[in-house]
Parts: sequence; C-alpha cells; structure tokens
Amino acid sequence: MGHLKPRYTCPLMGIQLDPELVDAIRAAESVVVMTGAGISAESGIPTFRDELTGMWENYDPEQLATPQAFERDPETVSRWYDQRRANIAKCEPNAGHQALATLERWQTKDRGRRFTLLTQNIDGLHRRAGSANVVELHGTIWRWRCTKTGREREYRHIPFPSYPPLSEDGGLLRPAVVWFGEMLPEREMMTAQRECESCDVYFSIGTSTQVFPAAGLIQLAHASGARTVEVNPETTPVSNLVDWSLRGPAGTVLPGLVERVMPPTGT
Ligand code: NAD
Repeated sequence: MGHLKPRYTCPLMGIQLDPELVDAIRAAESVVVMTGAGISAESGIPTFRDELTGMWENYDPEQLATPQAFERDPETVSRWYDQRRANIAKCEPNAGHQALATLERWQTKDRGRRFTLLTQNIDGLHRRAGSANVVELHGTIWRWRCTKTGREREYRHIPFPSYPPLSEDGGLLRPAVVWFGEMLPEREMMTAQRECESCDVYFSIGTSTQVFPAAGLIQLAHASGARTVEVNPETTPVSNLVDWSLRGPAGTVLPGLVERVMPPTGT
C-alpha cells in the first residue's frame, strides 16, 4: 500500500467517480466495508471527538470507556452510556447507511456474491437501515451484561430506574461494548480477518483508523490483494495509502457511488 497515492479525490458537491473504481466494485466477488463513528455523524450521533461536550466536556473517551473507569465510578460511566442510548434512540439511519444496505442487496441477492459490513459502531443503525451481514466488532449499546453472572440481554427502556443499573440477579450492569484495553470478541474478529483476506474491494468509511485492532484490517485486506477505498471528509493515517480517497461526507458520497455502480432498474 505504501507507494500508492490516491488517484481520485471526491469533491463535496458534484461527485465524479473514477470509472476504474466503479469497474472494480462491479467486478468484485467479495466486498468488505468497515465503518466508524463518522458514518453516523449525519444521523446526529456525534463522533468521539465531537461527543464530549456539555457536562462531559472535561472527560476524554479513555476516562469513560475503560474497565478501570467503570470499576472506579460505575455511576458516571453508566450515566454517560445512558445519555448516548437516549440520543441514539432518537436518530434514524441516513443516506450513507441506506446506500450500503442497497449495495449489499445488489451484491448478494441480485448477483449471489459476498458482502460483509464490519462496524466499530455500537449504535445499531446499519441493521435498522436493512444491512444483513453486519459484524459488530465493538458490540452494541442495546445489550448490557451482568458483571455477576456474565449474562447479557437487551435493554431498550430509557432511562434505567437507578444508577448504576443493576441486573435481575443484583449484579452491576455494564454495556456489552468493547472498551479501550479490552479484547475484541473472538468470533467477530475471526470473521473479519477471514473476509479481509479474501475480499476484492475494501472500504474504510467514517473512521479515523486509529483504534486497533480494527484499524489494522485495511492493511490485511491490502496485503491480501484487495483494492482499497476511503470515504471521509478529512484525512486519516491511511488517506495517502489507499487506492481511492473519496473526500466527502458518507451521506453524499455513498449514494452517488452506489447509483453509479448499480445498473438502472429494468436493465
Ligand atoms: P472517530 O470518532 O475516531 O473518527 C470519526 C471519523 O469520521 C473521523 O475521521 C471523521 O473525519 C470522520 N467523519 C466525520 N463526519 C463524517 C461523515 N459525515 N462521513 C464520513 N466520515 C466522517 O471514530 P472511529 O474511528 O469509529 O473510532 C472511535 C471509536 O468510537 C470506535 O471504537 C467506536 O466504537 C466509537 N464510537 C461509536 C459511535 C457510534 O456507534 N455511532 C459514536 C462515537 C464513538
């Protein structure tokens, strides 16, 4: 990946796409998409950088999203996650989520090919948009785990009746998400690695590509021969390394790209 320069930069308005990128997607037997917080920004869910405002402005994610923070102050950590749950509950999938669901349907149902959506997001918006093969590498904010029994279940009711919330078994509840310093779930990570090793096109969308091990998967895909594409309004550590850097918001870039890639209905 090292010597390649992005051959195409997408302007914010009036998207013109490199025909070679369109051809690469059309020819792909297997597509892998990795998404991060940026794809949900246009739904109103802040990225980490924008999230810690208001009463949370004196925190950084590593003060809140760690097992140590939860051990020290479970009430503050669960109140923060509950505020995020409440905000996410009000948000809808945007045009970027929907374009990926459309691309998946076309790739799998219409053409019998492979499509895997890896996400670092915990908001559940990809499934709500209709994506089917979603691998949640960092868990989901809608499931909580009892720290006494290890049992997980879905909690949709907001807010919790007390803080920190307790399970039916009397143990502290924690969100079933992956915190800084914790291992990614083994089954999801193995699926991600297997798909990255065999994909033809790998997309990195709305992620700062700084949180490992998810950030390393683009290297694995590239080393395995995939063409790589980034969609992000800003530069990231991989912007100069990918085959195509589409510099714009996912909610604009992805619908334009999918429209170009898919044949018009009826053909
Ligand atoms: P990040 O916050 O580190 O980076 C977000 C990236 O998105 C940035 O590079 C930014 O330039 C880009 N971006 C902003 N608006 C965009 C848009 N409209 N279209 C495309 N890109 C846009 O997020 P990350 O890389 O996902 O990693 C941080 C961690 O944050 C992850 O572990 C994730 O679980 C967690 N997180 C998740 C959510 C969520 O579930 N929605 C929200 C905040 C944080």
